[in-house]
Amino acid sequence: MQLVEEFTLSQAIVVCPTCNASFCTPQLTNMPIITSTTPVETDLHRILPNGAIRAALVGFCKECGYAWWITAFKTKSLLPDTLTADEYSMERLQYPRKFASAFITGKKQGVSSRELALLALNGGWCAREAGLATDRWLELAAEELQKALADKTMTGNRGYYHYIMGEIYRQLKQFDKALSHFNRVNYHSRLPRELVLRQKVQTTAGDSGPTLLPPYLVELLFCPRKPRLPFDKSI
Ligand SMILES: [Zn+2]
Repeated sequence: MQLVEEFTLSQAIVVCPTCNASFCTPQLTNMPIITSTTPVETDLHRILPNGAIRAALVGFCKECGYAWWITAFKTKSLLPDTLTADEYSMERLQYPRKFASAFITGKKQGVSSRELALLALNGGWCAREAGLATDRWLELAAEELQKALADKTMTGNRGYYHYIMGEIYRQLKQFDKALSHFNRVNYHSRLPRELVLRQKVQTTAGDSGPTLLPPYLVELLFCPRKPRLPFDKSI
């Protein structure tokens, strides 16, 4: 359960790291912690109750076109008025466009395919939170993550990314590809075996729908204060 009132957006004056222009942009100043009843989907993202919230994670400088995660922009001051995401009014089509701008910035700056895939995924989640179509975003995320996984030098949790790749392909109705990625998730991913098995069953059934994680898996994966069950090593 999450209430939109608990997500607070403030107007902030930030400085563009590229051209030093100052501009006003919404920043998320309060986000409730994840509990077992927080809606989280099987592609391991938290559903935010409004596209404005995820869009606030990205800053966009109209002066030079630079867009990136808001943490790349220095905050000069926070304005005193806060708005709940519901009160924050902006054309909903604009929300995912910030991720599109950040994707273009990332491409120009040669950031890694994994980083670009993460932006594309966030763009897709943002689009859905704003009630817009997501397939093009998922295709973009698949394209970049595929490149990242093809790179033998990529460090980090490859099993985890194979799982995410499986979920992207499942949602794109490319079930054979989804299964082949789920089959490459090993115990190094630190993902619970039952999660991977659930998603294989859903894929085999030809179900491409976005799906909520059951509360026990949200707790297991996202609530570190609770004792974690041991991960099964036989995925
Ligand atoms: Zn700029």
